[in-house]
Amino acid sequence: MNAVTFPKTIVNSSASSVDEGPLYVTRPDMPPLEEFLPYLERIWQSKTLTNGGTLHQELEKELSAYLGAPYLSLFNNGTIALVTALKALRISGEVITTPFSFVATAHSIVWSDLTPVFVDIDPDTFNIDPDKIEEAITPNTSAIMPVHCYGNPCAVKAIEEVAGKHGLRVIYDAAHTFGVRHDGRSLACNGDLSVLSFHATKVFTTFEGGAIISRDAVMKQRIDRLKNFGIADEVTVEMVGLNGKMSEIHAAFGLLQLQRIDENLRRRQEIDRHYRELLAEVKGIRCSFGGSKQGPNFGYFPVVVETPYRLSRDELYAKLREHGVIARRYFYPVISNMSMYRALPSARPGNLPVANEIAEKILCLPIYPALAERDQLRIVELIRGFATWRY
Ligand SMILES: *Cc1c(COP(=O)(O)O)cnc(C)c1O
Repeated sequence: MNAVTFPKTIVNSSASSVDEGPLYVTRPDMPPLEEFLPYLERIWQSKTLTNGGTLHQELEKELSAYLGAPYLSLFNNGTIALVTALKALRISGEVITTPFSFVATAHSIVWSDLTPVFVDIDPDTFNIDPDKIEEAITPNTSAIMPVHCYGNPCAVKAIEEVAGKHGLRVIYDAAHTFGVRHDGRSLACNGDLSVLSFHATKVFTTFEGGAIISRDAVMKQRIDRLKNFGIADEVTVEMVGLNGKMSEIHAAFGLLQLQRIDENLRRRQEIDRHYRELLAEVKGIRCSFGGSKQGPNFGYFPVVVETPYRLSRDELYAKLREHGVIARRYFYPVISNMSMYRALPSARPGNLPVANEIAEKILCLPIYPALAERDQLRIVELIRGFATWRY
């Protein structure tokens, strides 16, 4: 990478703000501490800390209602939920998935002694290309694990069709989809199972946490037992489960977050719209998928950095960092290029040209409800400033 240096004067708004601390790609929405204390008092009184206490029950009920998903099981995090989902459906052999995701997607497959088979992504949605799934199916394939990347809906109908035709299960990694609507319902209600993450970096958070959305009560019960060591009752352990339970304190934070989610989504939408307006005339900075009309959650603001923009993605990333803006290269490197995956036949870069190209050009800009307008303007001014500086 050539080290391009810029005169500080080209970005006149940058000098003062670095003192205020960096702008991260995201920041959790923290409700006033006073609002959390009554929940703590309830926990101290009940002395129930976990194992499906009343706060857990309340959050499960409220989330079910909010998402329109009657069979929802809370988890301690999204990764354990992914592993449990694979177990719940008794998946074996090979699982078709995308390399353009957070590493937990593929890790959950390997952790379950299964083999990930990578399929390239669609250049517009950054999601698994449904037309390339069929050629990756072998007699050992038993499931597809697509990701709704950045909350942008996968081709759910096409995926359902190919899965139905070949008798495959579909487990969506729906970690980015909280609040996303698609075809009149929650995007997270697709597939045999959908897995959510409530990690601190996600649109809806419980510090750490996650959930599995099932289609029926029988599957929900199986999942509820799997996440509690496989315990059916006091004297019966009916399967090899693990500990995936969400604690009362995490559930309490979720209840509080849920009260604020609509306002948070609205604020994110404003920021998203503002970025699109402000970046529209910056050549070579492409705002991805032009704002889905389906009811997005604005969890991320990915841009593709390409010619004729004057800097490479990595140069822009580094320059922004120098000025206290911590954008993130989600998702770089692609999972298929990581040391533990690249020996797989499906991981060859030649098999995944689109994912490899996008991973070199993608940059996620800061977006979160508390992002101040002047900070957003400063981010855009930096990006514009680097674009017009001449050698
Ligand atoms: C965050 C995330 C996960 C993992 O969720 P955790 O709750 O952090 O375990 C899995 N997949 C994707 C795509 C994610 O972004």
